[in-house]
Amino acid sequence: MDEAAIETAGVGPLQGELRRVAAIATPADLARGIAQVSRDWLRPLPGGASALPPAPIAAGVTVDVKNPTRYLPQLAQGGLGMPDRDYFLVDDATFAKARTAYKAHIAAMLRLAGLTDPEGGAARVYALEERLARSQWSRQAQRDPEKLYNLWSRGDFAAKAPGLDWDAFLDAAGFQGQAVILVAEPSAIAGAAEAASAVPLADWRDYLAFRTIRAFAPVGPRAFVEENFAFQERTLAGTPELAQPWKRAVQTTERGMGHALSALYLQKYFPPEARVQAQVMTQAIKAAMARRIRALTWMTPQTKSRALTKLTAARIEVGAQQPELTYEALTVARNDAYGNVLRAARDAYQRNLAKLGRPVDRGEWSMLAETVNAQANPVLLKIMFPAGIMQGLFFDPKADPAVNYGAIGVVMGHELSHLFDDQGAKFDERGALHNWWTPEDLKQFTAATEALAAQYDRYEPLPGAHINGHLTLGENIADLAGLSLALDAYHASLGGRPAPVLGGFTGDQRFFMSYAQVYRGVQRDNFLRQMLATDPHSPGEWRAAEVRNMDAWYQSFDVKPGQKMHLPPEQRVRLW
Ligand SMILES: [Zn+2]
Repeated sequence: MDEAAIETAGVGPLQGELRRVAAIATPADLARGIAQVSRDWLRPLPGGASALPPAPIAAGVTVDVKNPTRYLPQLAQGGLGMPDRDYFLVDDATFAKARTAYKAHIAAMLRLAGLTDPEGGAARVYALEERLARSQWSRQAQRDPEKLYNLWSRGDFAAKAPGLDWDAFLDAAGFQGQAVILVAEPSAIAGAAEAASAVPLADWRDYLAFRTIRAFAPVGPRAFVEENFAFQERTLAGTPELAQPWKRAVQTTERGMGHALSALYLQKYFPPEARVQAQVMTQAIKAAMARRIRALTWMTPQTKSRALTKLTAARIEVGAQQPELTYEALTVARNDAYGNVLRAARDAYQRNLAKLGRPVDRGEWSMLAETVNAQANPVLLKIMFPAGIMQGLFFDPKADPAVNYGAIGVVMGHELSHLFDDQGAKFDERGALHNWWTPEDLKQFTAATEALAAQYDRYEPLPGAHINGHLTLGENIADLAGLSLALDAYHASLGGRPAPVLGGFTGDQRFFMSYAQVYRGVQRDNFLRQMLATDPHSPGEWRAAEVRNMDAWYQSFDVKPGQKMHLPPEQRVRLW
């Protein structure tokens, strides 16, 4: 927040890091320089801006999905300054515009940092990124967890991905002594390694200098902040206005030492009664899921029994990760915004490295207490609801239960069902990547879901722009499951008594109204168009339209044939 001090310091704080890059003179130096990018990366929060790692060979630590009791060192593709490889490679007017803007942006950043020949540097950085993009995997290809699971020994690297000094790289990444390394996209890693020897060192120095300046920009002088915003948010996402300094400061603090903020948030905004009620509701949803699984007609008995075992094993966590992380190793210095960011990134990287060789911490969260979101983690076999979503429209401990079940109850059912859908079927009751559905189950499930895909394909939020029924299928299935489970759980919570009529509305009417209110929202047309192309969730208005598949909704509001939202019974999709 001390913008005057940041302005006075100018590019001074950046010089040490730029000198380190300028001193890269050998292939081993380059390998260390590439590894350093991962250490210096302050990771975005989940649900935030693009989470592509900035390093062309991004190092990190992950849970072994085939043996979820251990951690593995991991290498993944990254290192592009636009959201996806398609931006570099696909012949499309929007992407072509972004490419032109990106080249100008790189030059502007190099110029602001005082580097010589910013135009030439930008051309070289861009050419190198375009080369990296060519060997990278598409988002579609990255959706297959089996293909992303490739274990390489240290000795494999020189043969499978020649061109990089792998000993220097792996040591600099902190992977000394690791016998096995998980390589997520082998051909992309091989492509980047090849570029390490095929592209001149001078070009790599420009590239790494740009990565360094880019990490500095959000906490640098105003000119850097504005140039960074103009490209990243205005050009790429259509955001018209830079967020207020306090908002950017809170976001940076959340990324750098989020659990410290999270602990404060929990104390202040998560009353014990909210936790107790949330636990009662999640248990009720879980019980509803068990009843639904037992009653399924399309699932084979052997799969049902495994599903019930998995349901029993699934954990539900509310509030935040417990215990919260603390930051004893992190030095925070007044008047050193960039230094704080670098130290926080390196602290987080070290913390991850320290997990190697230790048992898996199944309590870990990637969300913070104040995050307004929910998640299912099939490997840790749990669903998580931060305190941030246990408020407002989603939940009020004093509200009528119909309203809570229609809002947070549906979200709970949605997340729980993710552990049991076609993606969840890939992870067994230990959280291991191991398909537990029979081929027959998969066939039955797919046949039922195709009808839902076709239903959503017909929706047209903007003239000529339809929802992609397959892109959004998993989330639409989860919404439908969430509605069914939450309504069951609400009915069970009445304990056999009729629901009270409140304000002239029945219990079921209040349930469905509450569900629809959660998804009230507006977005700019440009953003909506981008969502339709990339977001696996349908826009809110059409998530609300999911009720058309629920018989109880027709009864609640006496919806008749010929009315806009009516669907004939044979077209309603029933899955769980
Ligand atoms: Zn979901």
